[in-house]
Amino acid sequence: MPSRTGLAVALFCAIFFYAVFCASSALAQPPDANQMPSVIQVPAEAQPSPHFDATAATNAYLAQIPADKTARSDAYFEGGYWMILWDFLYGAAIALLLLNLRWSARMRDLAERVTRFKPVHTFVYWLQYLILTSILMFPLTGYENYFREHKYGLATQTFGPWMGDQLKWLGVGLVLGGAAVMLLFGVVRRLPRTWWIWGAVVATLFSIFIMLIGPVYIWPIFNKVTRLDDPKIVGPILSMARANGIPAKEVYEIDASRQTTRISANVSGFANTMRITLNDNLLRRGSPEEIQAVMGHEMGHYVMHHIYNSIMFDLIEMVLMFAYLYYGLGWALKRWGEKWKIRGVGDTAVLPLVVLLASSFSFVFTPIDNTATRMQEIEADMYGLNASRQPDGEAQADIHLGEYRKMNPGPIEEFIFFDHPSGRNRIYAAMRWKAENLQLFIGQQ
Ligand SMILES: [Zn+2]
Repeated sequence: MPSRTGLAVALFCAIFFYAVFCASSALAQPPDANQMPSVIQVPAEAQPSPHFDATAATNAYLAQIPADKTARSDAYFEGGYWMILWDFLYGAAIALLLLNLRWSARMRDLAERVTRFKPVHTFVYWLQYLILTSILMFPLTGYENYFREHKYGLATQTFGPWMGDQLKWLGVGLVLGGAAVMLLFGVVRRLPRTWWIWGAVVATLFSIFIMLIGPVYIWPIFNKVTRLDDPKIVGPILSMARANGIPAKEVYEIDASRQTTRISANVSGFANTMRITLNDNLLRRGSPEEIQAVMGHEMGHYVMHHIYNSIMFDLIEMVLMFAYLYYGLGWALKRWGEKWKIRGVGDTAVLPLVVLLASSFSFVFTPIDNTATRMQEIEADMYGLNASRQPDGEAQADIHLGEYRKMNPGPIEEFIFFDHPSGRNRIYAAMRWKAENLQLFIGQQ
């Protein structure tokens, strides 16, 4: 890269950092401004009675959210729709910049000067590519993951620790991304005609590998993961696990509050590496009923083999994407390959073009991916209600999740943008379940 351009990039970043420092002292929201109370009351309309009505109970739950909080979380979530577009356009602009200014070809030349041994050459190119694109993407990353999160009271980190996490992610990307590009370029160079099939298989296997090592080797880089010992919490969770045939012996806690105010939980891994993890926001803010409802939902994902279904779905999508890459790369290189000084699909300098094509594919597939995930989430909700028998816990969790999700979207909006059912639909499903299993509750009163 010419030093003039390097200087311009450095200056640009310095100005941006300065702006961030000035603005971070005047961030709009303190972390708890967005939050609903920890204990969400069961409203009178949702109490079990012979006149119980699911719609009235749903409306009564929703009415507990003050209008200003609804407006704020709607604005945050709808802003996220635009972020999908801006992320795509901004990333595409950077890819075109790297190609047209021949920075990508220059990074390849530099990597060749270091070594002609292909795998190491690929890694050296990746090192330059990742650092350069991270710097160029930084204004958007900073806005999206730091400013915007603080503006809506969802982030808990100050700039320094946040930047520290960003650098750690860069390290993770260097190692894991480096391994992925070395593998994939190896496949492309060895199998010039069929790489689009084998590339898809390798990419899918690699994502399974990441899923396996994530909870044990990647999460602890950013957060503290500890074993939960409190028998009041662990006991009911493990007995629910046994009742549902889940081979968990321990429950883990992750200190997500280090970065965010969001509540969440998950079941990760396969057979032997399988584990249940709750985040500390859920533990601190959720009622026991709410925690059980959330765990029932997560167990549903496990019991219904959603991980395997997702892997199959991803593999099909990956084959489609690689086929698109196969034709797209051939077409674009025939037209502009010479101008961009790219020698062919096995040339590392092609990477920005690969990223451009892949991101356009994912952009178009957004509603399909969201719908595939949302289907599983609907199933997990049903499973969770049957397993935990905590419809009010479910409604409480949905209200807490509503701090960063729009509760009441239109049907087309939900279809395109929601990877979970909307809060209103989830609460209604819980209240309908309660209405149809009222005998479980009326005896307890
Ligand atoms: Zn889920």
